[in-house]
Amino acid sequence: MSLCALRLETKQGLYHNRFNFLVGLLMEKVMNTTLGKEGLNKTWQAKFPETTKCCRCKGESRIGFVAHEGMDDDDRPEYPRDHIQFVTDLHENKGEGGYWPHDCVAVAVYFCRECLNPTALYNQG
Ligand SMILES: [Zn+2]
Repeated sequence: MSLCALRLETKQGLYHNRFNFLVGLLMEKVMNTTLGKEGLNKTWQAKFPETTKCCRCKGESRIGFVAHEGMDDDDRPEYPRDHIQFVTDLHENKGEGGYWPHDCVAVAVYFCRECLNPTALYNQG
C-alpha cells in the first residue's frame, strides 16, 4: 500500500483541533516520537520523505518528527482489546463517510518553510 497523506483541513478550527490532538497524544506518552530524519524509517510502510508539500501554501515542508506506535516490545498490543491503547481504538472504521485507521499508525509531521504551518503524512500497519 502506498503512503497515505493526511492533509489537514484549511479551516482554521479543524486544522488546529487535529494538530492539538496529535500533540496531546505525544504529551501523554501514548506514542513514541523520533525527531528529524531519524524518524523517517519509523514507518509501517514506505519510508517517509524528507520533505513534502505544505497542505496550505504548497511550499516545501521539512520533517519535524515522526510519532509512531506499536513498533517496540513495550507497546505491543494488549489483550483483551477492551480499552484504548492505540489511535485505532478511538473510533470504529465504518468505511466511506466514517473512515478511521484500522491498525497502528506512524505519523510524520512537517513544518513549512514559507508559512510554518504543519502538514502530516501517515501510514498504518
Ligand atoms: Zn506553507
